[in-house]
Amino acid sequence: MATTDNTAFSTLAQISDLLRDEPLKKYTSFKIGGPADLLALPNDKQELQRLLKKAVELKIPVTLFGGGTNLLVSDNGIRGLVIITRQLTSEIGMTQTDSHKKTICVAAGDRLSTVCRFAINHSLSGLEFAAGVPGTIGGAIMMNAGTPSGEMSGIVDAIKVLDRKTVAFKTIEKKDLNFSYRKLDLTDIIVGATLTLKKASLEKIAKNFEQTLQQKNTTQPVSVASAGCFFKNPVSGKSAGELIDQAGLKGAKINDAMVSQSHANFIVNINNATCKDILLLKQHVQEIVFNKFHIKLETEVRVEGE
Ligand SMILES: Cc1cc2nc3c(=O)[nH]c(=O)nc-3n(C[C@H](O)[C@H](O)[C@H](O)COP(=O)(O)OP(=O)(O)OC[C@H]3O[C@@H](n4cnc5c(N)ncnc54)[C@H](O)[C@@H]3O)c2cc1C
Repeated sequence: MATTDNTAFSTLAQISDLLRDEPLKKYTSFKIGGPADLLALPNDKQELQRLLKKAVELKIPVTLFGGGTNLLVSDNGIRGLVIITRQLTSEIGMTQTDSHKKTICVAAGDRLSTVCRFAINHSLSGLEFAAGVPGTIGGAIMMNAGTPSGEMSGIVDAIKVLDRKTVAFKTIEKKDLNFSYRKLDLTDIIVGATLTLKKASLEKIAKNFEQTLQQKNTTQPVSVASAGCFFKNPVSGKSAGELIDQAGLKGAKINDAMVSQSHANFIVNINNATCKDILLLKQHVQEIVFNKFHIKLETEVRVEGE
């Protein structure tokens, strides 16, 4: 970190417990990533707001992490301030919309798995697609996380955000949210959301959750370091995994970066892969798939840092 940033450190350290030159590999499911100049894990929305206000005043760039399960961080790390929102958790609240629908209030740092458990415990249907998807609510909304059976855009009713420019909280209703495949167009910081779920039979919901989870556990390398599916599925035709598999790339390796043997759309870190290894393998996969099928695979995983 540049010495001129000492002022930034001491100013922000008055607001939040601040870590300096903290290795980001500790905060990503890929277990990859160099240091963040400054890293903060605010404990509540007000602390987050104070941090952002100072960062804006000091013109320090701010990068957001939720659970770090969809991120590939560069080996040189990230300059400026990284804010991890996973401690912005809450008691999940519930309001009745009508006899069939329930709206639940969740916080950005709540784990998707915790919210799924809440849904099961209250016989609420709508989140079954998310069984086994790691990460936080904030990250899931930002990524419009999903599976073939559903995605976050189908259940989000409204989100509460911290506006990056005005540093004020505001609510954005569903009609004003621009969701697309694995993406929400948003520059603000999500602090909470309301989700609309439906009342249904507990037996049916639990069975669907169990089936989705089992399917995931048997077809994906869930216990190896990765960021989930690496590439987006093309708009039509074969999935990215099918294309990579049919191009003969399962098991392709560059150092410790490998195309998973169990699911070809997962690039895994089998021990000590660097971001550079993963990016070289990504490029190799894109080239081979393009040469064979004339399809350019686009990255689903978000690459952060310099
Ligand atoms: C084993 C495994 C399986 C997976 N399976 C699936 C799957 O089935 N379907 C699927 O869609 N994904 C899947 N993923 C990818 C990932 O889990 C999801 O995209 C998840 O929703 C990301 O949440 P996160 O909190 O980890 O976000 P992060 O990875 O931390 O961040 C993702 C993006 O959201 C932004 N962000 C995070 N929090 C906030 C916030 N509070 N406000 C604003 N922006 C924010 C970040 O800046 C970043 O751009 C899988 C990943 C793994 C490792």
